[in-house]
Amino acid sequence: MPTDHADLVVTGARVYTARHDAAGTARPADAVAVRGDRIVAVGGEDDVRGLVGSATRVVDARGGLVLPGFQDSHVHAPFAGRNRLRVWLNELSGKQAYLDAIAAYAAANPEEPWILGGGWAMEYFPGGTPHREDLDAVVPDRPVFLFNRDVHGAWVNSRALERGGITAATPDPADGRIERDGDGTPSGTLHEGAAYTFNDTVVPVPSAEEWIASVLEGQRHLHSLGITGWQDAWVTPATLRAYETVAADGRLTARVVGSLWWDRHRGLEQLDELLAQRERASDVAARAGAPVPGFHPTTVKIMTDGVLENYTGALLEPYCDGCGGHTDNHGLAYVEHDLLVEAVTRLDAHGFQVHMHAIGDRAVRNALDAVEGALRTNGPSDRRHHIAHIQVVHPDDVGRFAALGAVANCQALWAQSDAQMEELTIPFLGPDRGGFQYPFRTIRSHGARLCMGSDWSVSSADPLEQLEVAVNRVGSWARDVPAFLPSEQLPLDVAVDAFTAGSAYVNHDDDAGRVEAGSRADLAVLDTDLFADSFSRNGYTPVADANVVLTVAAGRMVHDVVG
Ligand SMILES: [Zn+2]
Repeated sequence: MPTDHADLVVTGARVYTARHDAAGTARPADAVAVRGDRIVAVGGEDDVRGLVGSATRVVDARGGLVLPGFQDSHVHAPFAGRNRLRVWLNELSGKQAYLDAIAAYAAANPEEPWILGGGWAMEYFPGGTPHREDLDAVVPDRPVFLFNRDVHGAWVNSRALERGGITAATPDPADGRIERDGDGTPSGTLHEGAAYTFNDTVVPVPSAEEWIASVLEGQRHLHSLGITGWQDAWVTPATLRAYETVAADGRLTARVVGSLWWDRHRGLEQLDELLAQRERASDVAARAGAPVPGFHPTTVKIMTDGVLENYTGALLEPYCDGCGGHTDNHGLAYVEHDLLVEAVTRLDAHGFQVHMHAIGDRAVRNALDAVEGALRTNGPSDRRHHIAHIQVVHPDDVGRFAALGAVANCQALWAQSDAQMEELTIPFLGPDRGGFQYPFRTIRSHGARLCMGSDWSVSSADPLEQLEVAVNRVGSWARDVPAFLPSEQLPLDVAVDAFTAGSAYVNHDDDAGRVEAGSRADLAVLDTDLFADSFSRNGYTPVADANVVLTVAAGRMVHDVVG
């Protein structure tokens, strides 16, 4: 029999909300009640007491914090989930730790014909290039293929090279390189296109069941971090099918927006295929009874340039040579300017949101020009186009995000002074452009909207780690390092809003992103009140010291470690 009782009541925590009294003054709240998939009350303990029945779960959050569920606006959940189910090196440090984990996986999975996975970091190998012989020593009998953390290269053993027919006589492909020993023998690292072609043509394709398991493993991990929705930044036909399946059968507990992939080697003729993919997915959803919150492949992702570390990020002025001089290399615009404007205009006209990868200042300008072109041709819309990464933004362009309604999709974790920044980036940008990086606060000061996402598994999916960098411009593992461009530090509430309401906005999820009666019950409950005055020490807010103890997605408790 239906009752008026709540299914869940959380008390004893600061509730992050904007409650106003008649005079418009914000009133604090410390309790929230959920029934079904909705928030039914937000207020003081008195406001929720009457909703507690015998079947109500009551959680005392003991001075913690209730936030809207985080939404990750740029993540690769199926790929990361797949690697988590295989060899997962992302959280390990050093060659020996990697080899131990690979050996343990191989021993535990004697039936696996291939050892696959990845997440190794270049910094633990001389020249950034691991050797096949180390892998041969732990897995001599089966092929091993392991992508590195940023997926620009792979480490392989001798069996894998044999399977791929790669020998001293094999030439390097046009878009990649085979690392070699002095005598020309492939040494065990494949760069860029050499790794991608190997992955696409030699490594066995995962089955439909494996992709479903991968999506669910990605979801499990993201839920454990307080994430209740995300935008998948690269949906393939195989992962599209997996998402459709779990959305239709109810196993998808997060709300997911899928970015269909724009093939940069092709042109406007691919538009019909993108429309067909979107149509088919909504048919599947309709047949399954329009699952809520569900899967929505309503976005197209365009990779407009590469990355700075290998000079494929597109710059307005050429790269520096690392010693104070200039080169004549401007990097690569993967989709040239006029085609990008035309593509975004056409996609906009067809109702697609466009999610653009833009790293260099030329790529960011091209992306903004494309949004401007769509606006000029089609008029204002509610597409909420967004530009991700925005590493180098020319000062002339920082105000254009607000002017055009383009959302700045921030990967906050990258905005810190680490070895990659100091050794591989700033020397090649030079001091001026080095100071144009990740200007989140300046972009917002013009009135633009921000959203946040991890790019997991390229870097950590943990929103608290990312928020710590957003507000301090320092990573939690190196708190004694000087802040990176400290004038771009975001206030904590601005950063939290970007990772909740801002990402919900970019996901067209107007039903969530705030803790308010009537909204969908997407919540992240932390064991610590990040906003307590005593939490910050000497102006530093150690956000990552907090833990998510409860995640509620559309009213379901999908992560629960309440002590
Ligand atoms: Zn990405």
